[in-house]
Amino acid sequence: MNSPRVDAPEISIVVPCFNEESVLAETHRRLTSTMMEAGRTFELVYVDDGSRDRTPAMLAELQRSDPRVRVVVLSRNFGHQIAITAGLNYSRGQAVVLIDADLQDPPEVILELIARWREGYEVVYGTRTRRLGETAFKTKTAEWFYRLINRISEIPIPLDTGDFRLLDRKAVDALGAMPERDRFVRGMVSWVGFRQIAVPYDRAARHAGVSKYSLFRMVKFAVDGILSFSIVPLRLATFLGLAASAGALIGAVVVVVLALAEKLHPAGWMAVLLAGLFIGGVQLICLGIVGEYLGRIYGESKRRPLYLVRETCGFDDAITDPSTSFAEQVRQS
Ligand code: UDP
Ligand code: MG
Repeated sequence: MNSPRVDAPEISIVVPCFNEESVLAETHRRLTSTMMEAGRTFELVYVDDGSRDRTPAMLAELQRSDPRVRVVVLSRNFGHQIAITAGLNYSRGQAVVLIDADLQDPPEVILELIARWREGYEVVYGTRTRRLGETAFKTKTAEWFYRLINRISEIPIPLDTGDFRLLDRKAVDALGAMPERDRFVRGMVSWVGFRQIAVPYDRAARHAGVSKYSLFRMVKFAVDGILSFSIVPLRLATFLGLAASAGALIGAVVVVVLALAEKLHPAGWMAVLLAGLFIGGVQLICLGIVGEYLGRIYGESKRRPLYLVRETCGFDDAITDPSTSFAEQVRQS
């Protein structure tokens, strides 16, 4: 879809923003000064993900003062992963860097990402060696999550790696051709392959503002990741069922033997109740897991566009709306 144009910048920086008024000015300053240092042509694609604060106004202001800024305003809050997707679809650089707006990923690391790209790597991802300014709860659960998903996913997903990364145009186009709705971008990037390499870095604390990932969103994100990249939970249902039946069978044999040896004292209705509850619980869990996948299939089958754009600024008219052409592409496939 978005083939590189003759006048396309070398590097696009995609920044998803949701209520980031307190950091935007500083983020823009650090990004531009880093990119000036890199000495390459670039564009900054800011995606406003339905912010309710002054973020869109500030982005429009930035665009007026800096022609390298392009702004995509989504029609409502679609979530981090979809905002990134929109930014990727609108970017035109030969390489695209994804970076959060809150300066947790230090912009200066981009220089290293670019250096690796110049060496021939098509995906250069930042791996967090340390995470500052985050609760022990978040760091620990994130650590478990990456290890779990890596174990059960069909493809290896690098540990402790967020969305801070550089993608060559080839990888960006590959992602654009993946129409799935539950977008776990870091897993999808692993899936596309190409030559990939990690760049370790220390993740800083947020420059200002608060995390937009509530506990609920974090859980949803983790479940999306696991269900999009593994069918192990479906198998879990079979295993649980087998384990429960095996347990029941062994229990039955034991009871018969004890009864024959006249050692069994009637256990009463409690045992029956517990067994019933146990089996009922296993069945509900399994039904729930199947339901999760079914819900996702339902979501996919509706074939709605991934996001809607309210307005854009800084793009020349020659650019058609990639989200429209993307939806078109999905419809035709
Ligand atoms: N973000 C977004 N839409 C959302 C939530 C977050 O575009 O619905 C952006 C946010 O502005 C930031 C990035 O995604 O640039 C990461 O979010 P955040 O820093 O809140 O997450 P955390 O680093 O705490 O996991
Ligand atoms: Mg953050």
